[in-house]
Amino acid sequence: MDLTYSKYGINYAFLDDPESRADYPSDVVYIPDAFFDALIGEVLPAFESGRLAERVAPHLHMVEGRKNRIIIPGPSFTWEESKKNVTAMLETLDPEIASLLETLTANGWIDLSAATAPGLCEGVCDPTDRRSDGRPSTIRFTYDGTINDPVYLSHELGHFANDAASPGFDWESASLNRTAACLRETQAFFLQHAFYDSDCVPALQGALRQHCQAEAFQCLGNLRQDLAVLEKTRALSDEERHSHEGFEQQEDAFRRLHNNVHRPAFFIAAGLYERFRKMETTQKKNFLDLLYRSGNGGPAMENVLRAAHIKDYQDFRKMVREGLDRVLQPSAAGMTISRASPPAFSI
Ligand SMILES: [Zn+2]
Repeated sequence: MDLTYSKYGINYAFLDDPESRADYPSDVVYIPDAFFDALIGEVLPAFESGRLAERVAPHLHMVEGRKNRIIIPGPSFTWEESKKNVTAMLETLDPEIASLLETLTANGWIDLSAATAPGLCEGVCDPTDRRSDGRPSTIRFTYDGTINDPVYLSHELGHFANDAASPGFDWESASLNRTAACLRETQAFFLQHAFYDSDCVPALQGALRQHCQAEAFQCLGNLRQDLAVLEKTRALSDEERHSHEGFEQQEDAFRRLHNNVHRPAFFIAAGLYERFRKMETTQKKNFLDLLYRSGNGGPAMENVLRAAHIKDYQDFRKMVREGLDRVLQPSAAGMTISRASPPAFSI
C-alpha cells in the first residue's frame, strides 16, 4: 500500500526553513495521504451527516480552552483506581506492558504534579523529560479524577511501550525513540481502544463507549477546521507569507498539522483493534510484539497493516470503516445518564 505523502501540508513555506526541517523531519512528522484520504472519504461523512453528533451531543460536556476537554458525567476515580483498571486491562491484553506500568508507578516516574480541574485532563509521554529535581517524568499526566484518567493513561502507555523497546533503553538515561508520528499515535490509540473495549469493570462500559464517541467527535470537528486552515494557508501569496499575519497563519497551520496526527490515528487504531479482536491467540501475541516491541523507531507501518491482513488501499478503507462502526456502536443497554448541555463549541 502506498504510504507516501504529498497532499496534506508538505508544501508549507514554514517548513522551508532548514531549522524547522531539522526539528521535524518529514518522515517523522507527516501523515501519509492514504490516511487522510480514508478519513475524509469514510469517516467525515458520518460526522457531516450528524450520525456521530446525535450519539454524542446528549452525553457530552465540552469545556472551551486550548483544547476541548471531554467530561462524561458519572464515574469518578482515585489515581489508584485508575491504575488498577488499566493494569487489569493490560494483564489480559499484554502483561509486558502491564509490567512497564508497574515499574513506572513503583519509581514515581508518572508525574501527576500537573493535576488540574475536572475535565482538564491531558497526558504527555517523553522518557527524556525530567522534573526540576532531576527525577524522570516519563509520563506527565494531568490527573482529574474522571474517566479521562484511565483512558489517557492507556494512551500514554501505548507511546511508552514503543519507547521502552528501543535497544539499550535504560530507565535513567532514556532517549526519545524517533518513531514516525502516524505509527506513534496508532500505537497509543490502539491501547486506548483496548481500554474502551475492556470488560474488567462492567459498570464502566457505558461511560467508556461515550468517551470513545466523544473523542471521535472531537477528532472530526477539529479535522474540519484543520482542513480549512490548511487550504487557506496554501492559498497565501509569497508576499502574504512573509507578512506578520501570514507567518502567524502558517504557525497555526503547522500546529494543526502537528496535532493532525491524532485524527486519522484514532480511527486507524480502532480498525486495527477490531481486526486484532478477531485474531487467534498466537496471532494476537505476534501482532502486539510487532506493534510495541520492534525496537528502535518501531515497525514499518506497512508491516503493521500487513499483519492485520491489509494488502491494498481498498482493504485499508474497509478497515477504517470497521473502525468507524466500532466507534459508532450504541452505548451499553441500561446505562442511565443525565441529559447534559449540548457541546459548547460550534462544529
Ligand atoms: Zn498521543
